[in-house]
Parts: sequence; C-alpha cells; structure tokens
Amino acid sequence: MKTTCPYCGVGCGVEVNADAQGWRVCGDAHHPANAGRLCVKGAALGETLTPAGRLLWPQVAGRRVSWQTALDSVAERLQAIIQRHGPDAVAFYASGQLLTEDYYVANKLMKGFLGSGNIDTNSRLCMASAVTGYKRALGADAVPCCYEDFTHAGVIVLVGSNAAWTHPVAYQRLVQAKQQNPALRVVVIDPRRSASCDLADLHLPLSPGSDGALFNGLLRWLAQGGYGDSAMLPQLAQVRETLAAAADWTPERVARACQLPQSEVERFYGLFAEHQRVLTLWCMGINQSSSGSDKCNAILNAHLFSGKIGQPGSGPFSLTGQPNAMGGREAGGLANQLAAQMDFTPENIDRLQRFWHSDRVATQPGLKAVDLFQAIGRGEVKAVWIMGTNPAVSLPDGNAVAQALQRCELVIVSEVMRATDTSAFADILLPAQAWGEKNGTVTNSERRISRQRAFVPPQGEARPDWWILAQVAQRLGYAAAFSWQHPAEIFREHAALSGFENNGRRAFDISGLAQLSNDEWDRLQPVQWPVNADFPQGCARLFSTRRFYHPDGKARLLPVAPAGPRVAASRRWPLMMNTGRIRDQWHTMTRTGLVPRLLQHYSEPFIALHPDDALRHGIWPDALVRIQSRHGWMIARASLTEDQTPGTLFVPMHWNQQYCAEGNVDRLVAPWRCPHSGQPESKQTPVRIQPW
Ligand code: SF4
Repeated sequence: MKTTCPYCGVGCGVEVNADAQGWRVCGDAHHPANAGRLCVKGAALGETLTPAGRLLWPQVAGRRVSWQTALDSVAERLQAIIQRHGPDAVAFYASGQLLTEDYYVANKLMKGFLGSGNIDTNSRLCMASAVTGYKRALGADAVPCCYEDFTHAGVIVLVGSNAAWTHPVAYQRLVQAKQQNPALRVVVIDPRRSASCDLADLHLPLSPGSDGALFNGLLRWLAQGGYGDSAMLPQLAQVRETLAAAADWTPERVARACQLPQSEVERFYGLFAEHQRVLTLWCMGINQSSSGSDKCNAILNAHLFSGKIGQPGSGPFSLTGQPNAMGGREAGGLANQLAAQMDFTPENIDRLQRFWHSDRVATQPGLKAVDLFQAIGRGEVKAVWIMGTNPAVSLPDGNAVAQALQRCELVIVSEVMRATDTSAFADILLPAQAWGEKNGTVTNSERRISRQRAFVPPQGEARPDWWILAQVAQRLGYAAAFSWQHPAEIFREHAALSGFENNGRRAFDISGLAQLSNDEWDRLQPVQWPVNADFPQGCARLFSTRRFYHPDGKARLLPVAPAGPRVAASRRWPLMMNTGRIRDQWHTMTRTGLVPRLLQHYSEPFIALHPDDALRHGIWPDALVRIQSRHGWMIARASLTEDQTPGTLFVPMHWNQQYCAEGNVDRLVAPWRCPHSGQPESKQTPVRIQPW
C-alpha cells in the first residue's frame, strides 16, 4: 500500500507491507518528494502501529459511553453554550496532523454554520509568519518553489533551519545536489552550529533574532551593486519606500547588529548577488519570532528585487513543519482566513454563503492560538474542541495553558492516544483514527497533494475526524450540509470551492480535481497545486510569468524595520533560550515515544550550552540543571558544546509529562507573538540557569 509519512512537511511517500514480523515500511521510489528515501522516523512508522496507549472508545466525564451518547453530549453542550453566550464562546483548535478533508469539515462547521471565526490550529506555531509574508509580498499564500529546485540552484541559503534533523529527506536531497554539483554553495544562517552546518560553505552564527537586519542589509547591497532585476522592477510596488528603509543597513552596521565579522556578511551578500539561481530555505528560526512576518518579508524583498523567483533553482522557499500544515492553510484552518485561502472580505463571505447555502458564515477573523487560550483562561471562550494536538505541552506559557484548560467549562478532545497532557483536562474524549487507519489527503511544503491511505482496521471504536465533526454538525441541525459518506466527497467539495468564481484571482485552485470519482481520488498521484484548466497536471513553480496575486498583478516589497527579540537578555535573565526539534522525535512524543530505538539518539531532554557559560554558572558536564524564565522552569541534563554561541541555550521541545515531567520546555516560553501573524516567539526566551 502506498501512503504518505505523517511527520514533517517533506511529505515523503511510503510503501507499507505486512510480513511475519509485522509492518514493513520503506520509501516510495516513485514519490517525487523523496524518491524512495526515508529518515529514521519514517522508517520506524511500522513500530507505531500498536494498540499500546490508544484511546479506544468515547468517554464522557471519564466514563465509557457509546458514540451516540458522546456525540449527543458534544452537540447539546456546544449548543447550550452558544445559546447562552453566542458563537464566539466556542472554539476549535486543530492540527497539522489532520487530513485536508478533516480540516475542511471543521472549518465549514465553525466558520460556515456556527458563525464564528474561532478555529485555529497548531500550524499557527509553525507557519503563520510565512503565510503573512507570502500574502503581503505575493498576494497569496503560495510557496513558489519545489524540491526539484535544489538540483538547479547555484547557492542555497538555509536560514533558521536545521534541515538535517527537522527535514531529513530534504537535507539528503541537498547533500545529493552538492555531490552532483560541487560548485553549489551552501550558506547556513543559525546562531548555533547545527548538524546542517556539515554541508555549509559558509556558516553565519548571527546573534539570536537579528535575521531582519541581515536581510535588510542584503537588499541594500543588491541595490547599491546594481543587482536589481530590470525586467522584474515594473512588476514590483513599494520599491522606493522599501529601499529607503534598508538604506542605513550598511555591512558595518549589519555586522554589529548580527555580531558577525563584516567580511563574512559581505561574503554572503556576494554569493547571493553574483548567482542568479539562489534558493533560500527558511523555517522556525525565522517564523517563531515576535517580528517573524517582517523577517519573512525581508527575505522575500531580496528575492523579488533581484528577480530570484519563479525560475528553476531560485526562490524564497518556506519549509513547513507538519505533514499537512499547508493543507490546513488551504482549507481555512487558520482563524484569520476563510476556506480555500480566501480572506475575510464581504465578497468572499457572500461567495461562501452562496456556495455553502448558509446565512451564518463568520464575518470576522477568530482568535489565533495564543490569544485563543488566553481567552479561555479569562473565561471568554467557554468551550474548546481540541483535535489531534497536545497544546498543554506545545503552546508557549504552558502553565497558563494548563490553568486555562482547567477552568474551561467544556473541553472536548479528539485524540488517538488515551493519556496525553491535554486529554487529562477533557470532559469528553473522542477516539480518532490514527495514521494507517484514516484516509484522505495532505499537502507538503512544495504544494504537493498526496494521499494518506488506510491499510489497517481502526483500533477499538476510533472514527475519522471528519466523520466525528459531521455527526456533531448533523445533531446541531445542519444535516444537509454535512451528509458525506466518504472522504472523496469532501475532497470534491473542497476542490470545487477552490475554483468557485475564481477566474485566476486566487492562487489556490484545484478545481481540476473536483470531478474525481471515488476510485480516481483513491488512486490520486502526488500533484502540486494549482490543478485547473491552465495547469491540468499541476505546476512545479509559481510566478514564472511574474504575475502576482495582488489586484494590480504586482508583487509588493515591504519596508522592514528590523527588530530583535521582544525582550533582550539581561543581568537577571542572562541567557537566550532557543527551542526546537531533535532528529528522532516528533512533536510531543505521543507516537515516536512508542519506538524504543528512536530514544537511542536522545533518551531524555537536555540543555545545550557553551562551556564558557557552563563555567560562569558553575555547571558541570552532564549535571542536572534548572533553567527558569519569567513564566516557568524545567530541569534537564546539561550538554556542553561549542556548537552553541556563548550566551545561548538550545532545548528540545518534545518531552511531555509521560516521558519526563520536569522536561517540558514550553512552560518557559513567553507568549509574545508577531503582531501580524500571531506566531509566538519560541526561539528567543531570556532565562537563567543554575545547578540543580
Ligand atoms: Fe517522514 Fe519527514 Fe522523515 Fe520524510 S523526512 S520520512 S516526511 S519525517
């Protein structure tokens, strides 16, 4: 059986076969994202297909009940809260683990029929700044590039990304591209010397959060050196203002701001300027920042101004963290957008009302993830339905999140696992189908839609997320609009909506898939959107014609005033803490924690710090240490390494209560967020450290 890996946004195709030992998982040699490769997490997927720890049946108030009772209870209690307090008193919090069909139904129910914008997703923690950056620059949340571009690039810039660990198969493709083309230059921009630096011709260990200054300086360098693309310039708006905003960012000033040698800054600028085919890959080091959207636009400015977009080997390429972060964006999973990537405009609201035959479509964006849980904490949102994610571990300011869930009037959790940090707060627990059991589509970082296929029977009474949502919608009185019997029917509706009154104005258009039969949907081959009359076979690269999605067809440069972390390190909080993934674990370990061999890389949380900092704070190698921020504390073992820049820490984000009660780092992370994207600043939290 061919399906798709449920972990990172590379979106590798996998083949699953049964043998005497159990499930054998290998890479799908024909899938364009990975051509047969898998990383260690993907290769271990077969070992996660176990009943151990699964949530097997619905529960209400801790007691096993029938699906009928559970669904009635969800509908009655949501209805009662809406009647008393209005639709904005309820919220959904979804996940990049959901399939696009699940997302479509969740969004349709909340924004289309309950009448609130209050559905957000853990993709807010991952991609929201990139979405804002793309929309402001290109007029659409449309990633221009594809993995194939690795083989065409002359320079590849990895910024805020340790792809070697977080997107391992994409990194393997980078390694292969460099082997095939030794002239390819790789620049890694990251405060720490990560595993990805093994491939780097140039590593810029800039000070945490100074990326905006670096890319503003790059724009100035391009302008001063005459590297603007004269054919592109007529297609750009706000050029003068943006260049003016960058005018003071001389290499000397950038070097000071980034704490880098000026010669290294200029070397990077020279590589970017001199090569026509430059690909910039970025990830959470850029997005998870209180100025994340502006950092994304600083990157986009440089690419647009120099015309490095829309051509093979060239472009600004954000790597998504999750298997279906992009599918969620397409289906309206973010609180600030409607279905099919439509914005909240009167025209789009009217369009949705007519398409869905509903007069209750939300007219205002809802609460973004951090704001949503703060509103729960204040008692303004009284019911939350959490689907396929573990916010008690993964959201910043974790202690406040736990308190919010504790006081929330109604917490509904749809989950695969029985005992998560979040399900401990649930009034109603609904068993959802897991990878291998559920059936639908996902979209990876390069806009490629692939199928996740079911090949094992569901454990216990687990049901698809879309089915659970549709059953509740029917009980709420919306039977006609939620009457699907098969996920292919939902996909067809989603595809038809993407093309509804589109006429080339919206980037996301898969109307060419709206007529698939159930069998054709089941056999769907990986394809990059758009898929429509212009691109019946999909489209590898966007913007090759240099026409963008703003109404005037132009792209926008955006004046950027570089900002550092919201709160700088100080005498009291002298170290800047960075959180991130390690190679062999996924999110809060509810699945990868089941596989003993994945704990061989790191079996416990750790705090990586420079030996000079260790000496200064009396920390011995491998000693247990306590770190504290304004928001919380944790304990883990010190890992001394010169890969860390002095003054910085790195702590993995994965450990939950089950695997290490004192090792959850998100309790320390501040809830500060980008004002444009709402994405929290998970990469820069001032902390202090002491032996434990
Ligand atoms: Fe899965 Fe990502 Fe590894 Fe591919 S690189 S096998 S998608 S975790």
